[in-house]
Amino acid sequence: MLQTDVAIVGAGPAGLALAVMLARRDSRVTLLECQSEDSLANPEDDGREIALTHKSVRILESLGVWQKLHTDEVSVLQSAQVVDGNSPSSLNFDNRGRGPLGFIVPNAAIRRALYEVACGESNIQLRCDSAVTGTGLGDNRRLLEINGENHLAAALVAAADSRFSEVRRMVGIGADMRDFGRVAVVGRVRTECAHGGIARECFRYGSTLALLPLAEPNISSAVVTISASRGEEVMQYCDTEFAAHVQRESAAALGPVESCGKRHKYPLVAVYAHRFYAERFVLVGDAAVGMHPVTAHGFNLGLAGADTLTRQLDGVTRLYQPARLARALSRYQVQHRLESQPIYSGTNRVVDLFTNDRLPAKLLRKAVLRFSEHFPPVRQAIVHQLTR
Ligand SMILES: Cc1cc2nc3c(=O)[nH]c(=O)nc-3n(C[C@H](O)[C@H](O)[C@H](O)COP(=O)(O)OP(=O)(O)OC[C@H]3O[C@@H](n4cnc5c(N)ncnc54)[C@H](O)[C@@H]3O)c2cc1C
Repeated sequence: MLQTDVAIVGAGPAGLALAVMLARRDSRVTLLECQSEDSLANPEDDGREIALTHKSVRILESLGVWQKLHTDEVSVLQSAQVVDGNSPSSLNFDNRGRGPLGFIVPNAAIRRALYEVACGESNIQLRCDSAVTGTGLGDNRRLLEINGENHLAAALVAAADSRFSEVRRMVGIGADMRDFGRVAVVGRVRTECAHGGIARECFRYGSTLALLPLAEPNISSAVVTISASRGEEVMQYCDTEFAAHVQRESAAALGPVESCGKRHKYPLVAVYAHRFYAERFVLVGDAAVGMHPVTAHGFNLGLAGADTLTRQLDGVTRLYQPARLARALSRYQVQHRLESQPIYSGTNRVVDLFTNDRLPAKLLRKAVLRFSEHFPPVRQAIVHQLTR
């Protein structure tokens, strides 16, 4: 049977980042991914544009991943504007002259850059076309069944197999799931006016639109959030209809709009695992905490969690000392909960408030925004979250 120090299930951005971090601390890592190697080396654009905090950029730089991104893949997020309902005014967030709020990078570019770095690590063995189909415990190891036949034994298994993690379920860890009954339809648009590095979040009644500034000055990513029952209708819009929708919902803030590129649809389901670890087992990335994208924290939390876990494991010897390993995993759980729980609950409350079109909620929305506008500490706290 194959043996390894750490087996990671899922070579998405969280699994790849964790693999590189652990490999650099002398662990032999086996990364199992059900997709083909070609889809990791050349990931297709999936429409997700990932807003990264400064902390995430620092982590990616330290891994040598940031340096692998092309200049036309990175856009600078200078400030953000929030518009409520049919109000003509907006609430603005910026870093008060202390640099950008963050950066925006396509998910496919992050995945490609992480893959390239992982390929350069001699401690990482990547096994593609390998779906984990079962797990159990054996002689001081956790065992994995791959494609229903081969087996692998690892001192620790980390599941990074998405918010709908099958491996989390196999180990018997439950999760709170919030299905918002909505979908996000994402697609690129060209606007007559330059976006100026400003992200615009328009919480209209019945639908929400985010316009995220991309590297080209007139190209933005439009994220249309609507009831799941209307998702297919918006996906089927011709380019002119989609552009008209974006122009209307953005109140033509950037002038006439043209649709450019494929659209993608994502169901909006938030997930929070009941526990982040079990015997010789740990959850990372969306498998631990799957966020609603409105506050752009999912991958940022995944990266922070991988960093916390690596620090707690502190090298390879702890993996083979059951009591010390259990304590390290428990400390990871405490720290990652402290970091993620307030953001998770806060995000779900924002979604509840800003997608509720009944009169009391509409009034509360306006009151919250007015309060934030006239009470700078609230605005500063939000900016701090984005820029830390
Ligand atoms: C529209 C949208 C916008 C977003 N915007 C932002 C943003 O601005 N900022 C931000 O920080 N986050 C954002 N996110 C969230 C971010 O995309 C996710 O947090 C991140 O992609 C999760 O990475 P992951 O590696 O945990 O999981 P995934 O990317 O889901 O990867 C899981 C991997 O596991 C593999 N796998 C699954 N099951 C198995 C198995 N049994 N065996 C082997 N392999 C398996 C899959 O093939 C996949 O490669 C956004 C998400 C969406 C949908």
